Amino acid sequence: MALERTLSIVKPDAVEKGVAAQILARIEASGLKIIALKMIQLTPEEAQGFYAVHKERPFYGELVAFMTSGPVVVSALEGDNAIARYRELMGATNPADAADGTIRKEFATDIEKNAVHGSDGPDTSKIEIAYFFNATEIQAPVEAL
Ligand code: ATP
Ligand code: MG
Repeated sequence: MALERTLSIVKPDAVEKGVAAQILARIEASGLKIIALKMIQLTPEEAQGFYAVHKERPFYGELVAFMTSGPVVVSALEGDNAIARYRELMGATNPADAADGTIRKEFATDIEKNAVHGSDGPDTSKIEIAYFFNATEIQAPVEAL
């Protein structure tokens, strides 16, 4: 098993509902370690850049509007197999399909307002962590990877 890092975002819907800390507690209870953390409000340019991979999708404009609608809590997580483990903890993109016990099952509203983001692979996790955190904001030695 590989030691990995992944980027988590508690999205504006979950922050607005007041469940950000509960989601962070779930992350910690799962054994994933929070190695960087902050609350920010994304600008349209930041949200567009973050979701650039989806720019041809019909929901892109709405997704950017949603992601900039309020503050988000961004964190970097570390652990063995962290990328897949966090996606499993999040549950399916559409909360209607999310398994019992997952974050999206419990906290998401719909397929767009789905409470959390998690990186989908090792290449995107590196890009996404660097998008939000510089080296001095990450509380673990890079040599560990
Ligand atoms: P994320 O990338 O946020 O972790 P994901 O990998 O499960 O979620 P993606 O397919 O990458 O899902 O979609 C990115 C985000 O775009 C979703 O989390 C959701 O907020 C939004 N989204 C996805 N599909 C739709 C849709 N059909 N309608 C509206 N919004 C959508
Ligand atoms: Mg995705």
